[in-house]
Amino acid sequence: MVSIPRKIARLLAFALIVSTIILVGVNSGGWNLQAGSNSRVSGDRKLVFSHKSAKTPQQIVEENYKTLQEILKRPIHEPKTGNLVRPPSDPDQYDRANATMLVLVRNRELGQVVRTIKQIEAKFNRKFHYPYVFLNEEPFTERFKETIKKHVSGKTYFESIDKAIWEQPESINVQRQDEAMQQLEAENVGYAKLVSYHNMCRYYSVNFYNHPRLQQFRYYWRFEPGTDYYCDLDYDVFKFMEMNKKTYGFVIALYDVEQSVKTLWPRTMEFLAEHPDYLHPNGAYDFLLENLQNPHKTLIANGYSTCHFWSNFEIADMDFYRSKPYSDWVNFLDSTGGFYYERWGDAPVHSVGIGLFEDRDKIHWFRDIGYKHQPYTLCSNCPSCKGCKTADFTYKHLRDQNCLTNWWNYEMSEEQKNIY
Ligand code: GDP
Ligand code: MN
Repeated sequence: MVSIPRKIARLLAFALIVSTIILVGVNSGGWNLQAGSNSRVSGDRKLVFSHKSAKTPQQIVEENYKTLQEILKRPIHEPKTGNLVRPPSDPDQYDRANATMLVLVRNRELGQVVRTIKQIEAKFNRKFHYPYVFLNEEPFTERFKETIKKHVSGKTYFESIDKAIWEQPESINVQRQDEAMQQLEAENVGYAKLVSYHNMCRYYSVNFYNHPRLQQFRYYWRFEPGTDYYCDLDYDVFKFMEMNKKTYGFVIALYDVEQSVKTLWPRTMEFLAEHPDYLHPNGAYDFLLENLQNPHKTLIANGYSTCHFWSNFEIADMDFYRSKPYSDWVNFLDSTGGFYYERWGDAPVHSVGIGLFEDRDKIHWFRDIGYKHQPYTLCSNCPSCKGCKTADFTYKHLRDQNCLTNWWNYEMSEEQKNIY
């Protein structure tokens, strides 16, 4: 018989108590959410994260950053799916996917949005002529519209957002909101007191895919003013999504400000207790539950790693948002007021939704799209990428924000890893 030294036994007992405390913290509404192996939904419907490590969080940060750099330094080119659709000889006669470019933008951001559109056109859209939808809660000025039209190859739709949908609902308790925003500001949460920012996050989480203009479209490529695109794309990315049955495409994944999403996970667990059948058996649970690299974040966010796909770039299938699991869930989230009492971002909301309700193999990491939104850049070793420095992801003090390695380590199948 092997006897366990007393010191180790005591350590194990301590670990058990600590993990029990953590478990209680994420237990909600009868939903048993445990930390255990390979976070898949088991027969008894437990969400489990059990990866353990003897390393310190700081060591894990460095190791994960190193892995990210190794991945980005590998020579890649295009997805090797064998079904890429090449640019047509006449883009105006081309049978496009049911897709649009999409941007929510203010009139005063004209210069920045033109800067980004020029790059998107040069690298991609001049070859395919996809349309653009511009959204704004204020009317676009004539100057805005005329200037944009000079720079795009596709049809343009300039759309207003109904104020009743954009603005915060009457049901929000303004006093509670004020107190909550003071608190968030004291914790240095960015945009804490900027109601328009909360409106924006809520709109992109709950409402945009129901905009009357977007009803005619299935896929969208979201972009933001002031972002940069570095790589030539010589295939139709929307048809790539469609033909390879992808629901969601991203470029960068990060941790979030934990104070901004304190109750997002507990509220979600309450919802899941009522709708356990909405969970996808092949969801991205490890990505959402990981607690090794930034354990304080997972703790403060009550069980959510805070890892999310950075939504300022995303290519996705709106049929997913329009499906019952996602739409029921975000309507429930909205009813809790968390977009105003906290500062839930659309990125964590999209990511938790897609991670819980969709097959993780339908989520695609576009490593061939070189992209920058301050202060992060994704730049692979790819012959079509110019003007960015391979693997130069961010400043040293922000390395701990990298969540791409978790995606790679925990969620990508060998097939996904070898797609490039
Ligand atoms: P950050 O990337 O999280 O710092 O947020 P941004 O300030 O870049 O905003 C995200 C996106 O929403 C950008 O495309 C902005 O142009 C847009 N946006 C943010 N606030 C508003 C707003 O009040 N009205 C409109 N129309 N667009 C907004
Ligand atoms: Mn931005």
